[in-house]
Amino acid sequence: LYVTPDLGSGTPIAPTPDQSRYLTGVMRLTQGDDILIFNGRDGEWRATITEFTKRGVVLTCRELARPQAFGPDLELVVALVKKSRVETIVEKAAELGVRRIRPTITRRTNVEKVRLDRLDAIAMEAAEQTGRLDVPIVDDPEKLEAILDGWDPARRLMFCDEAGGEPAMAALQAAGPGPWAILIGPEGGFAPEERARLRALPFTTAVSLGPRILRADTAAIAAMTLWQAAIGD
Ligand code: SAM
Repeated sequence: LYVTPDLGSGTPIAPTPDQSRYLTGVMRLTQGDDILIFNGRDGEWRATITEFTKRGVVLTCRELARPQAFGPDLELVVALVKKSRVETIVEKAAELGVRRIRPTITRRTNVEKVRLDRLDAIAMEAAEQTGRLDVPIVDDPEKLEAILDGWDPARRLMFCDEAGGEPAMAALQAAGPGPWAILIGPEGGFAPEERARLRALPFTTAVSLGPRILRADTAAIAAMTLWQAAIGD
């Protein structure tokens, strides 16, 4: 269960009303039962339900079950696409271990609105069910130019280009481990001037995900899976 307060031995934790209902109504837990909780910073803790009232439950942290761990240093820079697809991408990115999701606005992006609170909740729930102890950060949308202007050149960029590139698996293996980001374009793909800039950057590896043009959500899942197979854990 994901909670926000700091965790430590003896700390009382009040879950949200929804979480309380889930623990008592769905999980059928009661006073004295144990559950595992995490906050993305302090590791995973065994906690006991020490209060059980109509207003909700209170947990008391008992002992550290697993020290805090972080997944691979992988980011996903993804052009905004329509709501349901963005939500799928965020969920799958959280499952596949991405640390930071950076929604971006490119020349051909035609969606600008995004509900960050909803994306945060999706990332949190997906992280929770995988058993990872960190929750991916979802940034405010930013223009691709601005993201590239502030890029740390030590981070390699797997530029997924629908116009073609090196086969992804071989290109990733040749580039090797280290901090990485994956870039996925919008429904209309990248504009020629964006492609030219991306290809000229020294930290970019332009890759193909195969001969078919994939939908952005499929492309993101394929790219993250290939990255995991070639580099990640
Ligand atoms: N029109 C479709 C849609 O509505 O989803 C296709 C979108 S495709 C242009 C979106 C992005 O997925 C591309 O900009 C690229 O990043 C990635 N992509 C799709 N197919 C790809 C491929 N075969 N190789 C590399 N990247 C690909």
